[in-house]
Amino acid sequence: MSTLQSTIHVLPEALCNKIAAGEVVERPSSVVKELLENSLDAGATEILIELQSGGKKLIRIADNGCGMNRQDAFLSLERHATSKINTDEDLFALQTLGFRGEALASIASVSRFLLQTCDNEDGLGQQIYAEGGTVRRAEEIGLPQGTVVEVRNLFFNLPARRKFLRKEQTELSHAADVVTKQALANPNVCFRLKHNERMLLDLRREKGLRERFAALLGRSLLKDMLEVEQEGGADLNLRGLLSQPQLTRSAASHIYTFINGRYIRDRVVQHAVMEGYRHLLMKGRYPVVTLFLQIDPALVDVNVHPTKHEVRFRDQGLIHDFISDRIRQTLRPADWLQEDSTAKEGEVFDRVAMIPPLKAGKKEYPPSRIEISSVTNEPVAEYVSDPLVTMKENVVPPNAAEPTAERPEPVEQLVLPATAPQGFFSGLQILGQYHQSYLLCQDGDDLILVDQHAAHERIGFEKLRHSYAEGAVISQALMFPELLELDYRSANALEENRAELGRLGFEIEPFGGKSFALKTIPQVLVGRDVAPLVIDVALELEKVGRAGKLQESIDEILILMACHGVIRANQGLSIAESKALLRELDQIDFKANCPHGRPVLQRLTLTEIERLFRRQ
Ligand code: ADP
Ligand code: MG
Repeated sequence: MSTLQSTIHVLPEALCNKIAAGEVVERPSSVVKELLENSLDAGATEILIELQSGGKKLIRIADNGCGMNRQDAFLSLERHATSKINTDEDLFALQTLGFRGEALASIASVSRFLLQTCDNEDGLGQQIYAEGGTVRRAEEIGLPQGTVVEVRNLFFNLPARRKFLRKEQTELSHAADVVTKQALANPNVCFRLKHNERMLLDLRREKGLRERFAALLGRSLLKDMLEVEQEGGADLNLRGLLSQPQLTRSAASHIYTFINGRYIRDRVVQHAVMEGYRHLLMKGRYPVVTLFLQIDPALVDVNVHPTKHEVRFRDQGLIHDFISDRIRQTLRPADWLQEDSTAKEGEVFDRVAMIPPLKAGKKEYPPSRIEISSVTNEPVAEYVSDPLVTMKENVVPPNAAEPTAERPEPVEQLVLPATAPQGFFSGLQILGQYHQSYLLCQDGDDLILVDQHAAHERIGFEKLRHSYAEGAVISQALMFPELLELDYRSANALEENRAELGRLGFEIEPFGGKSFALKTIPQVLVGRDVAPLVIDVALELEKVGRAGKLQESIDEILILMACHGVIRANQGLSIAESKALLRELDQIDFKANCPHGRPVLQRLTLTEIERLFRRQ
């Protein structure tokens, strides 16, 4: 082989652009995203998006932004050509959506591309036509101020790529999703989306997020949304809308999160949102969320991925906890329990229908037991293996360097008022009990059904959590200490976590070898066969040591304990007992759902009941 002949060569510009396009332009919706970002960066207040064949045939975006002069119009098609940053430092002080200077060059390299732009009011602008990235024509023409980009036959010169495109409807829905996200983030901008000459979205300029949210996702949803508006200091601030726990979706697709106005799909943020809803949603259910995090640009790196959907935080633990704490604070007061009487046609039924039925063959609760104390040998494993009880996270937690893993979050403080307030539940008029499982109550004209089991489980859980936080779980000594004989692994876990178990109300002493004596148990578990539970708890704690998710596991354990100590369904309650139950509900937080996310109450309005009887 000749020593002069090199096998490595620098790729031609056109090929580089195609490679870059591979990262940035996956499908028509990616083009829509990039072009919308450019229009918004150009200060547009009106944007028209026109698509044909889901964008496969044509994507045309017209804006009334600042436009470009002749020289910039040509430069904008060059790779790494941008007006948005100059220096290294600018990368960490970004005020714009774009900054990579790649989009137009990439898009032009894989399409038939037309740019029309004008930066003045005299009406003389530039028109440039390019094919596969090569400029074919350019001329001066009369134009209003602003920019129009037309992208025809995406991937016409990359047939292999074109084959990956889906059918018209699928591509359209991806593109509409992109428009939705940008429209949520920019309520003061008019967006219109046309497909095959049909106007699909016509969003006028709105005052704020609520109005835009209603216009995009439906006014009836808005009623079930709670507003977040939290200042976390000069460089951290969160605002947006959160669904009440009874309004859920089967996928995370309605969780819209934005950082500094940019839509992002970030695992830390996603995890923080689900953490905020922990123990409020059924497994596999997701909230409807639109959240805007405003953060000093120096604290977040958006230059992680070409599509800029992912970010890296300087202190991800801080951001994670900030978001989840604020969500919890917003969900906690539960004032919204009372605001339901205005429910419109069919909404309560819709909501009930949204809750997925439990799997056939699986009982909704652990099998009903009439008397708590009469059951002594209840197999704990039955609960442990119940998927509802050992509910795990709905989302994949962020990887190893995960924030919550390093630093257990502070236990929530449950503030119990000294005197019982006249709360929502205490104010209900009790009509009776149905099927020994549900309390029937009246609130104004509405009929309220309270699931006594779910209510009790939530009360038990919140109380235990409170006592645990205070280091005051009430325990009771066993008259005859119970001997636990364990295998090596469990014995080890137990030994290592004796102090933690003590806090949970289990006092345990080594009894030689792999044996231990159980001397006290939490009061809620008196009369139960606790040995298997202790072993499970020990194993759970052992996992904590490894995964570091202390609070989460403690919560799981407290739920287990709460489940064991509560009123089961099929238990008659006197009026006094029912009243006491409702009073207790008023004294705790998160009272609208049991710790597994099942609702505690359902409301039927008079109108709905009258409709059932065809009186309306
Ligand atoms: P970036 O947005 O990362 O700067 P682009 O390739 O998307 O890179 O755009 C290159 C440049 O072209 C932008 O920096 C901007 O100056 C100009 N530009 C693109 N689109 C528009 C538009 N709609 N209105 C005004 N200027 C635009
Ligand atoms: Mg751009």
